[in-house]
Amino acid sequence: MTLRQLKAAAAEHGTPLVVVDHDVIRRNYAEFRKRLPKVQAYYAVKANAAPDIVRTLYRAGASFDVASLPEFMLVYENIRQLPAQARQDFIWDKIVYANPIKPRETLEALDRYKPLVTFDNLAELGKIRRYAPHAGLALRLRVPNTGSMVELSSKFGCDPGEAVDLIEEAFRAGLVVEGVSFHVGSQCTNFENFVQALNMASAVMREAQSRDRQIKILDIGGGFPVPYNRHVRPFGELARRINAEIRRLFPKDIEILAEPGRFVVATAATAIARVIGKAVRDGKTCYYIDDSVYHTFSGIIFDHCQYRLKAFKKGPTEICAVFGQTCDGLDTIAQSEELPDLEIGDLVYAENIGAYSTASATWFNGFPPAKLLHLNA
Ligand SMILES: *Cc1c(COP(=O)(O)O)cnc(C)c1O
Repeated sequence: MTLRQLKAAAAEHGTPLVVVDHDVIRRNYAEFRKRLPKVQAYYAVKANAAPDIVRTLYRAGASFDVASLPEFMLVYENIRQLPAQARQDFIWDKIVYANPIKPRETLEALDRYKPLVTFDNLAELGKIRRYAPHAGLALRLRVPNTGSMVELSSKFGCDPGEAVDLIEEAFRAGLVVEGVSFHVGSQCTNFENFVQALNMASAVMREAQSRDRQIKILDIGGGFPVPYNRHVRPFGELARRINAEIRRLFPKDIEILAEPGRFVVATAATAIARVIGKAVRDGKTCYYIDDSVYHTFSGIIFDHCQYRLKAFKKGPTEICAVFGQTCDGLDTIAQSEELPDLEIGDLVYAENIGAYSTASATWFNGFPPAKLLHLNA
């Protein structure tokens, strides 16, 4: 998207506005597939659950990772209306339910779809046996999340040491463990996490095999990093390492899937906001914009993400602060951003804001979430 297009969109649709370019989504998805050709991509819907995005990705050939019943139904309803691709009795080729903890009612509702679901503990196994006996299972392992922007290993994943016992227990309960899964933490810039996780998954599969339990699916989760800044090493480098480990560690006929969220959508969206206030405090210029950390910039809080704010206007810059529109002090978008001298009514924008942003926007303080504009959908 050019600056002129962004400005025109803001003039036409008003602010706050989030422009989502579906050409970029398709490009990201294609790059993922090209660099990891053995891996089917299950887009993690929670990164951005806009139905237009689900449809675009489905048409491009993607499958989906969901983590709640509403997300499951969102994907199911949207892909049902589209031309069928390899429809079959079960839906594993299109949807994985990758939240290891599921409410009983969700399991009951999912059972008729014969879903593929993850688990990581005995209590969950008991629930699945009772309420979703037709589900296929994937065991989620705890793997190192060292250095990832969002850490998940204290919340999910069984100890590798107890993995094969859990697999045995599932088979004894009459269920089938089809896969082993992991998540290295979101925005994983430490590629060693993937290498270690693949080695751990391979060890678990081999031990299961030695007990005559054949595991067919490897789910390498999400975490594929977005180039938010120049310190993030290229995706191609990560992909080469993953491919090499897969070749080395797993049988040829293993089915591999991944759950990229951020990687697919982050770079596809740009937020545009308007300066609605301006003050000088302690010698620093403070701008107030018509969006907030309770809205499009919610990733600052929930995703530990920082976005660069830029102006359309040229001119000498100075360090300033940028605050959101709400009455809360937490609502600070930037403490030291470099911007030219802006007036009330001027526009600012933030790129790479497609993941974990609008997805967690609220109506706090009575302000509605920003309007979403889908381009090239
Ligand atoms: C959130 C999540 C993802 C997506 O993670 P990204 O880091 O955005 O790629 C994938 N799998 C599971 C189980 C998740 O919870």
